[in-house]
Amino acid sequence: MKTVDGRLKAWKDDEKYVWHSMKPYNPEATMIAKEAKGAWVTDIDGKKYLDAMSGLWCVNVGYGRTELADAAYSQLKELAYFPLSQSHLPAIQLSEKLNDILEDEYVIFYSNSGSEANEVALKIARQYHQQNGDDNRYKVISRYRAYHGNTMGALAATGQAQRKFKYEPLAPGFLHVPPPDLYRMPEEECRPRELRSVQAVEQVMTWELSETIAAVIMEPIITGGGVLIPPDGYMKGVKEVCESHGALLIVDEVICGFGRTGEPLGHMNYGVKPDIITMAKGLTSAYLPLSATAVKREIYESFKGSEEYDFFRHVNTFGGSPAACALALKNLEILEEEKLYQRSKKMGAIILSELESRLENHQYVGDIRGKGLLIGIELVKSKETKEPLEIGLVNKVIGDCKDKGLIIGKNGVTVAGFNNVLTLAPPLNIEEEDSTFIIDILVECLDRIG
Ligand code: PMP
Repeated sequence: MKTVDGRLKAWKDDEKYVWHSMKPYNPEATMIAKEAKGAWVTDIDGKKYLDAMSGLWCVNVGYGRTELADAAYSQLKELAYFPLSQSHLPAIQLSEKLNDILEDEYVIFYSNSGSEANEVALKIARQYHQQNGDDNRYKVISRYRAYHGNTMGALAATGQAQRKFKYEPLAPGFLHVPPPDLYRMPEEECRPRELRSVQAVEQVMTWELSETIAAVIMEPIITGGGVLIPPDGYMKGVKEVCESHGALLIVDEVICGFGRTGEPLGHMNYGVKPDIITMAKGLTSAYLPLSATAVKREIYESFKGSEEYDFFRHVNTFGGSPAACALALKNLEILEEEKLYQRSKKMGAIILSELESRLENHQYVGDIRGKGLLIGIELVKSKETKEPLEIGLVNKVIGDCKDKGLIIGKNGVTVAGFNNVLTLAPPLNIEEEDSTFIIDILVECLDRIG
C-alpha cells in the first residue's frame, strides 16, 4: 500500500467493494486511514490529520493505546467467548465498575452498539409497565433534532426527518417535542420549571393521555443534532414531569458519556438520576464494539417473576464479549488514572474561550457553545435573522480544514437548512499544542469565507 500504485489500487478497490455510510462515493473526499496515535491519524499517502472528532465522537482516550490492545489480547487467550445468558468475570467486574461510576444500583445489559443499547432500553421500558399491569403504556417521547440510532425503534425515536425518509413506516408509538435551543429561544423562557421545552413534554403527555406514556428518551446534551446545551433546570424539569406522570426517563449517554462533557456521564452535569442509561462509544473508546443499558435495580426486580413472559426476551450473540468487557475496564481505568474527565473540562473551557475571543466579530459565527470537549460553532447568514448559513460554505470550511490536516464535523440535521453547526470532539487527552492547532486552522478556514 506504500507505493503510488498500491494507493491507487486501494482507492479503486474501496470504490468497488466498500459501501460507505452516509455519503455517496466521492474519491476526493474519501480518506483511507492507515494508522493513528494520540489525536493524529495517518492516511495511506502518509498525510497526517488531527482528528478533532475522535472518529465518530468515540476515541476518548486517543488512538494507539497498547494497554487496551493488551487487555483484549490477554482476555481473548484466556476466554474468547461465552454468552451472557450465563456469565463471565469481565462482565461482572465491568458491571461493578459501572455501578461505582453511576453511584447507584443499576443492573447492566450488554449489547454491541449505541442503537442496540437504546433498542434494549425502549423494550425494557415497555415491558416494565406491562409487568406492572400498566398495559397501555407504550408511547415514547423524544426530541426533534436528536439522533438515537439506526434500528427501527431507535430511528423512530430520532428527531431528524431526513434520516428516516425512505425507511418509514418505522416502529409506531413515538412522539417528538422541540428541544431547548438557547441560541434561538427568548431569555425569559429559559428559567427552570417555566421552560417552554419542559412544558412541551408535559403537554404532550397530557394530550396523549399520560397513562399511555412509557418513557422519555433524551441525551443530556443533543450532540449530533447541533450541540444544544440545555438550560440548567431542563433535565431536572423533565425528570419531575416523568415522575409525576409515571413515565421512565431513559438517558442516552452514547456520546455524552465517559468524559465527553467533563463529567463521567453527561447527566451528572444536571443532578438527575435517570431510570435507564445507555452507553457505548467512549465505554471502550471504540477499540472494540460494546454498549451497555444500565437499568435501576427496582425496575429490574419486576422482571424476576415466575411466569414464562416475565423475563426480558432479548438476546444477542456478541453483546458483552469477554474481550470487549476487559478492554472497557482498562479504558475506564485510563480515564480515571489520567484524570481525563477533569482534563476534558479544562481543555474544553480553554478551547471555547479562545474560539469565542477570536471569532467574536466573524460575520457568520452566530454562536459558540460547549461543555467539556463537546463544542459546537453555529454558522448563520446574518446574526440578526439567525438564518442558517448555506451548506456550500459550511462544507467549504470543513474541506479547507481537511486540506490543512484538521478533521472537524458538522451536525446531521439537514431539514430546513439546519446543517450549520460545526462540531469539535477531540480525544480527551488532547495536548495543548494540538488544541492550538485546532483553533488556528479552524479560525483561518473560517476567515477564508468571512
Ligand atoms: N445515540 C446517540 C446519541 C448517537 O450519537 C449514536 C451514534 N452516533 C447512537 C445513539 C447510535 O450508536 P451506534 O452508531 O453505535 O449504533
